[in-house]
Amino acid sequence: MIYFKTDEEIELQRESSLLVGKTLAEVAKHLKPGVQTAFLDQIAETFIKDHQAIPGFKGYGGFPGTLCISVNEQVVHGIPGKQTLKDGDIVSIDCGVLKNGFYGDSAYTFAIGNVSEAVLHLMRLTKEALYKGIEQAIDGNRIGDIGFAVQSHVEPFGYGVVRELVGHGVGRKLHEKPEVPNYGKRGNGIKLRVGMVIAIEPMINLGGRGVTQEADGWTIRTNDRLPSAHFEHTLAIKQGKADILSSFEEIESVLNNMNG
Ligand code: MG
Ligand code: MG
Repeated sequence: MIYFKTDEEIELQRESSLLVGKTLAEVAKHLKPGVQTAFLDQIAETFIKDHQAIPGFKGYGGFPGTLCISVNEQVVHGIPGKQTLKDGDIVSIDCGVLKNGFYGDSAYTFAIGNVSEAVLHLMRLTKEALYKGIEQAIDGNRIGDIGFAVQSHVEPFGYGVVRELVGHGVGRKLHEKPEVPNYGKRGNGIKLRVGMVIAIEPMINLGGRGVTQEADGWTIRTNDRLPSAHFEHTLAIKQGKADILSSFEEIESVLNNMNG
C-alpha cells in the first residue's frame, strides 16, 4: 500500500528532510584524516536532538548508529565505530531523522583529502545520476523511468549499479512502498502520482555491481573491494518537476568554505 501525503504532510516532511541536510553539513565540518567515525555519529546525534528531532536510523532493525558511515568499498549501512578516516578515502554518510511524525532521508559521499581523479569522477557521476533520476520523478511517469535514467547515466562509464538495495517511499515510516530501483526499463513499474514521497538513492560502484554483506550483519561492501558512491534525496512527486525536500546546499557551502 502506498501512503499519499497531503500538502501539509509534505511540509512537515520538508522540515525533517532539511534537518537531515543541516545535520550532514554539521558532520561535514569535522571531516578530515584521523577523525573516528564514532565521533561523527555523536556530532549527528547531538545535533538532531538539539533540533527537537529523533535520529531515524538508531535502533531501526537494531542498527546501533545515528548515521550509516560507509568508507571506500563499503556501499551503505556501515556502522560508526573506531575506524578513522584517512587521506584519499571517500565516505558515504546516510542520515535519517524523525520529526513531527515524518521521516527525512538523505545521503552524501565526501572526499577526504586527496582522492584520485577516477574516484572523484565516480562521485560526480553518482550525484548527477541522482538528479537524472529526479528529473524523471514526476506525475504520470513510472518507477522504471527513474531507474533507467540512473542506470543509463553511469553504465556507459563501466560503473556497476547496485541492485540489491533500492530507494523507497518515505513518510510516517522510514521505508514505505514503492521500491525505487536504480535500474529499470522506461515505461515499466507503477505509475508515479502527486502525493507520493520517495527517496531516490543511487549506489554506484567503480567496478562490478556485486555486493556482499559483512559479518557485522549490516555493512554492505563491493565484492571486488573497489570504491562505491551514494547520494540520496527525499522528494515529493509533482506535475512537471519533483519537489526536492532534502537539500545539499548547507553541505556544499561547508565543503566550499573548507576548500576555499
Ligand atoms: Mg538514506
Ligand atoms: Mg533511503
